[in-house]
Amino acid sequence: MPEKRLLNKQIVKALECSGNLMILCDAHPSRDVDYYCTQEKEFICNKCALIKHSAHMESLKEVAREEVDNHCEKLLTYLELMRNRITQAHEKV
Ligand SMILES: [Zn+2]
Ligand SMILES: [Zn+2]
Repeated sequence: MPEKRLLNKQIVKALECSGNLMILCDAHPSRDVDYYCTQEKEFICNKCALIKHSAHMESLKEVAREEVDNHCEKLLTYLELMRNRITQAHEKV
């Protein structure tokens, strides 16, 4: 299920965020993200911006640290919710 896979990816990112408060590029896990592509709705690094997204540079938004933190916070809240749900499911057994 592609939806589930996406969710896993988000959780991994959230975990990464909780560790160092930054989002890493999917294609370059060693790089922090610098831009957000409003066209593909994904965070990308400088390198990706030049290579993969050069055709629609106008869709790229520079990522502000507050936005990244904001994004992480939302994911962490979601992660917390999931964790509670899993705990509850375990308690039932
Ligand atoms: Zn990249
Ligand atoms: Zn793009």
